Amino acid sequence: MKTHRKTGEHQVSTLVSVMIERDRQDAKFGWIGTPCSILPGDDDWAKFAVLGEEVGEVARALIERSFGNDTTAHLEEELIQCAAVCVAWVEANREKRAT
Ligand SMILES: [Mg+2]
Repeated sequence: MKTHRKTGEHQVSTLVSVMIERDRQDAKFGWIGTPCSILPGDDDWAKFAVLGEEVGEVARALIERSFGNDTTAHLEEELIQCAAVCVAWVEANREKRAT
């Protein structure tokens, strides 16, 4: 029984896409820890609201795709944005602990 697998090229390219999206978020909204970052302040519920908004966009892309009005490529873009918000949240926690 296989218990793990080697890191594959699709996993690496996916994580690179998440990193690129994190850079895009910082360029658009400001660095984590600044008042204008994608996840400003210390309120985890506000952070959850941002993540929820991104999850909603995944749901919308999925529904639109099921009606033939959207693409898997766009669904993946939305999933990457969700992942990047999760990364930003962990980054924010770590930044807070480090200061
Ligand atoms: Mg989105």
